[in-house]
Amino acid sequence: MKIKTSKVAVVGCGLVGSSTAFSLVTQGVCDEILMIDINEERALGEVLDLRDTIKYLDRNVKVRTASYADCSDVDIIVITAGAPPQKGQTRLDTLEVSAKIVKTIVDPVMASGFDGIFIVVSNPVDIIAHYVYKLSGLPKNQVIGTGSSLDTSRLQNFIAELVNVDPRSVYAYSMGEHGDSQMVPWSTVTVAGKSFNDIIQDNKDLVGEVDLDEIVKKTTREGWEIYNRKGTTYYGIATACAGIIKAILYDENRIIPVSTLLEGEYGETDVFAGVPTILNRTGAADILEIHMTDEELDKFHQSVEILREYTEKMHTPD
Ligand code: NAD
Repeated sequence: MKIKTSKVAVVGCGLVGSSTAFSLVTQGVCDEILMIDINEERALGEVLDLRDTIKYLDRNVKVRTASYADCSDVDIIVITAGAPPQKGQTRLDTLEVSAKIVKTIVDPVMASGFDGIFIVVSNPVDIIAHYVYKLSGLPKNQVIGTGSSLDTSRLQNFIAELVNVDPRSVYAYSMGEHGDSQMVPWSTVTVAGKSFNDIIQDNKDLVGEVDLDEIVKKTTREGWEIYNRKGTTYYGIATACAGIIKAILYDENRIIPVSTLLEGEYGETDVFAGVPTILNRTGAADILEIHMTDEELDKFHQSVEILREYTEKMHTPD
């Protein structure tokens, strides 16, 4: 008998990749982590630093450097290699560079015999996830973009602050593009079961006049608020990514808004976009189709249209 070791590979050991590995190690999420980077010294530096944490943690997660040939029996590969946007660029402006980078990763990974799940973090994440899906030839449930998972935690923080509750008691999704066109279906937002629209009506003395569009704008801008102060962002996405990995490895059936292939859901096809998705050991097991108002659905379609435009610009792999 052989008990299977749970293995996660992190490709791209920069700020997002190393923070993701740190999050996995400190939470003891898997048995082994393989660190891969074009800059091998950087990967080794991160491995050595991560190993120094073990003495003070509950689990001895094994961390080592690796090559793509070692990926054949890996459960999950997280792709964080990329070029973060420079000042004045949007995430969409980094598409060409990111696409070139991921091709150099996905081809050798697939040649290793890999048949696990890709989690794409590199931006623009929805389009790159679609590209990885096409390049890899894996079934759609095995390619997931982190999508609007991070935006959703930002959104929940803002709502929670407004009504003074724990963000984890807020049920709200940011959907569509992980980027400027993301939208929030406000009619579906609840705080522990009570509709947010009713909360606003019933608590005018506490919340005053609430500008929902402004909350969406704040959510969209939050990445730039962080970027303008520290040059980049990584703890939020790394922790969201670890949450997605946990949902998969522990077969949780947890619903997280990630970027997944739409095949008729919400009236959209052949595009990756952020939608609430059931995650378990099979990866993106199913999409939750929440009921939106016509106006909300229009906003969702507008966001998806932008993703489709960029997705179609990408070369289909040979
Ligand atoms: P970084 O510059 O700190 O790290 C990138 C790493 O990728 C570097 O270590 C680099 O050596 C490596 N790399 C580059 N080309 C490679 C290749 N061909 N093969 C293997 N490794 C390669 O950048 P970062 O801050 O960690 O950001 C990484 C990516 O994550 C960017 O695309 C960024 O926009 C994205 N990001 C996404 C989200 C999200 O919510 N989806 C949030 C934050 C950052």
